[in-house]
Amino acid sequence: MDEFSPINSRKTKLKLYFCFTKVFSMKKIQMVDLMAQYEKIKPAIDEALHSVIDKTQFINGPEVGAFQSELASYLDVKHVIPCANGTDALQIAMMAVGLKPGDEVITPSFTYIATTEVIALLGLKPVFVEVDPLTFCIDPNAVEAAITSKTRAIVPVHLYGQAAHMEPLMALAEKHNLFVIEDNAQAIGCTYYFEKGGHSKTGTIGHVGCTSFFPSKNLGCFGDGGAIFTNDDALANTIRMVANHGQSKRYYHDLVGCNSRLDSIQAAILRVKLRQLDIYNEARKTLAEQYDQAFSNLPEVRTPFRASYSDHVFHQYTLQMDAERRDAFQAHLEAWEIPSMIYYPVPAHRQKMFQAFGSSSTSLPITDILTGKVISLPMHTEMQPDQLSHILSAIEAFF
Ligand SMILES: *Cc1c(COP(=O)(O)O)cnc(C)c1O
Repeated sequence: MDEFSPINSRKTKLKLYFCFTKVFSMKKIQMVDLMAQYEKIKPAIDEALHSVIDKTQFINGPEVGAFQSELASYLDVKHVIPCANGTDALQIAMMAVGLKPGDEVITPSFTYIATTEVIALLGLKPVFVEVDPLTFCIDPNAVEAAITSKTRAIVPVHLYGQAAHMEPLMALAEKHNLFVIEDNAQAIGCTYYFEKGGHSKTGTIGHVGCTSFFPSKNLGCFGDGGAIFTNDDALANTIRMVANHGQSKRYYHDLVGCNSRLDSIQAAILRVKLRQLDIYNEARKTLAEQYDQAFSNLPEVRTPFRASYSDHVFHQYTLQMDAERRDAFQAHLEAWEIPSMIYYPVPAHRQKMFQAFGSSSTSLPITDILTGKVISLPMHTEMQPDQLSHILSAIEAFF
């Protein structure tokens, strides 16, 4: 071999050696590292779990009541009604506001399927509209253009942890007498700042807010969980009934409802993790800023936009770049053992399940382009310095 080939120089060999040992001693990078998060709060979580088991009140134990009032005070909302998962939360909210088969519900196509699925499940008509290409959230102008005499509700999604622009949506809702049901599954803890001053947490601005406690969400439990928020007393009462077999008092069923509960073990875990939520969201924001810097001089990459009307709690850190480059970048990251995800490769209006709703003839060019351009990087609360520097080196090597 050539004496002077770079791989043969002693210095390069050493460098390679250190590079490999660093990679081998580094903990495998995951999209979400739930184990590292658990390890930090293990004593509190284990104690919470055992206290539920000691009481054996697994359903509707005192932890559920305590969690709902603690979350209500964190969000500054009058009512929190826990339920079994985020999809149920959306379904129950739509049932409780009294939507009827044939009613039109305006929603983004660029979202997780749950948002749109429950609309169809209830026999309502999903009307898919565009998102703002910067915020990834529903475009109020597109909503306005889609309103008909049959429109009854708008379902904005605070996607990736960035709030949708709520004030124009609320103005449209008031003007046309529509319900606004916020899908807050990806943005719990996000603060919205009103133009006229003051602020609220997302999920408490519309008539009803819905969230999920799926383990990978910003506030996640150790299984399934969800919740519904509202400031409306009568609506809260109906939501509680719908979630509990339409029951007004034991064995008296006034409405057709469902069975959707948060169990005591999940509530006990969530009580511990709620106390960490602001710290977790700060850790996400810090990581997002570190990623931003890595991409700051790359005109081909669009880093996540921060709307002036809210903060961003980075459920996902999602970049945009040309489709071909995106796919090459994803392959490159994989070679470096760095996971990445495309949220979401197929928008709702292109899913087979909605073909019967005539959705494939819906023209949503922005949504279609975005599905080709987005890529989400690992985003969690426990990113280690050696993991981050490995990701940053991978980015530098590619661009
Ligand atoms: C996770 C999620 C849901 C559904 O939550 P589940 O608890 O999994 O049912 C709904 N909408 C969005 C935007 C989500 O990210």
